Amino acid sequence: MKQNKNGTWTSWNENVIYNYKSLYTITSESELQEVIKNAKEVRLFGSKQSSADIASGTTTLIDIKSYNKILAFNDEQHTVTVQSGVILKDLLEAIEAKGWCIPCLPDINTITVGGALATGTHGTSGKLLSEYMSKCRLVMADGSIKEITEKDDLMNAVRVSLGVLGMMSEITFTCQPIYTLHVKERPESDTEWLPKIKERLIKHDFLRILWLPHTDKGYVITGDKINPDTDIEENMGPAFLKHRRTASKILYKYTHIFPWLTAIANKILYKGFFSSSKEHKGTLYQATVTKSRGSTLELAEWTIGLDKFVTVFEELKTEINKWSNKSFIHIPMDVRFIQKDSSWLSYAYNEDTVTMGCVSRNAATADTYEAFKSIEKIFLKHGGKPHWGKRFAAKDEALSKVYSKWEDFKLLRNNLDPNNKFLNPYLAKIFNEKQSKKVA
Ligand SMILES: Cc1cc2nc3c(=O)[nH]c(=O)nc-3n(C[C@H](O)[C@H](O)[C@H](O)COP(=O)(O)OP(=O)(O)OC[C@H]3O[C@@H](n4cnc5c(N)ncnc54)[C@H](O)[C@@H]3O)c2cc1C
Repeated sequence: MKQNKNGTWTSWNENVIYNYKSLYTITSESELQEVIKNAKEVRLFGSKQSSADIASGTTTLIDIKSYNKILAFNDEQHTVTVQSGVILKDLLEAIEAKGWCIPCLPDINTITVGGALATGTHGTSGKLLSEYMSKCRLVMADGSIKEITEKDDLMNAVRVSLGVLGMMSEITFTCQPIYTLHVKERPESDTEWLPKIKERLIKHDFLRILWLPHTDKGYVITGDKINPDTDIEENMGPAFLKHRRTASKILYKYTHIFPWLTAIANKILYKGFFSSSKEHKGTLYQATVTKSRGSTLELAEWTIGLDKFVTVFEELKTEINKWSNKSFIHIPMDVRFIQKDSSWLSYAYNEDTVTMGCVSRNAATADTYEAFKSIEKIFLKHGGKPHWGKRFAAKDEALSKVYSKWEDFKLLRNNLDPNNKFLNPYLAKIFNEKQSKKVA
């Protein structure tokens, strides 16, 4: 196994930087076990694409991206087993070739499976990605292995566990048969799309709304399952639409100095890039997941029970449209829907949930982006939960109020990692704990 000494670790968007003593690049489960067993404090990282400070900050680090083999398919049970450093692109291409799919995908394919599961990564109109995991091998703080299946009570705690109970080694997903979606995209005014959410969740197999702050518009994307041979008159809109991210970058360039410029930029971006309709077909992966990104960004995302969403949305919109408010928000705010589950730290624990993204397209100036603060205040007030992989300020006390299983999770974490080996400074604050209690 490769070891680098005394280097600097930098996140994808360069907003989180740490020095480390040892960085190991591992390629096997036994190497993963060895490093974890011998480390006093250790974090493991995948593609480093989280905005939250959760992947580094310990003296020992493990780079999991070379631990990335697709290990086995089970044709009868539709399962695939992978090493946790495999990136989503490789996993999804491999299962599509088998005629299978995972029916709810995030809008990014460069992240690792381990990173995605640890932070509760999700798409829309289905469950969190981790709900499709049927088995996993966890490397515990003492280096031993625990194999967990859906029959084990521990599974509900492990599915979304931020890499603080143990590190995921091999993961098995249960897949579903692949399907083709007929996707339609068009702008609608807020008064049109907002009241139609529940009806559309029943009617369509896929629903996503890119809300366009300061324009009173949402860009509605629906998808319906069709026979793959159905003829669709494909319309991907004007060719210049592909330059949206570049145009955003230019228009938002000085919005950290003059936040109100955002409102003007959004109106221009709406007219230029979100006012036409589109129609196309493809698999969930091919038709809905972004395959390349022009630049880095900083993300926050908050989630709220479906029944409360309209109230929270109206409050948020009123707040950000006030002249006294500095929370001008870059386009788009991604509104997606997750079905309820039983995972302790899932956003959708016991209730159908709506997620609302918030992006700063100037990653370097994200600290001055007032929108992150305003959104957090409003969602927390209504019992909303933050995305674990994205930016938020809430800690133990606030989180204990929105996660009904918070104290159970903390107790379990303490039992499984009594020396706090898996906590970095940020996670220590989240759980109100000390970083690494003892020398191992
Ligand atoms: C452009 C962009 C688009 C995004 N889109 C979405 C989206 O559509 N939906 C969504 O929900 N999220 C989305 N995200 C968030 C993203 O899915 C998460 O931040 C994810 O964790 C990133 O994966 P990674 O491989 O970069 O993990 P890293 O950032 O490297 O690590 C994240 C966490 O996972 C832990 N971890 C990594 N591997 C393991 C393992 N094997 N065992 C235990 N713990 C592990 C790390 O220690 C760390 O705590 C997006 C992020 C970006 C930048």
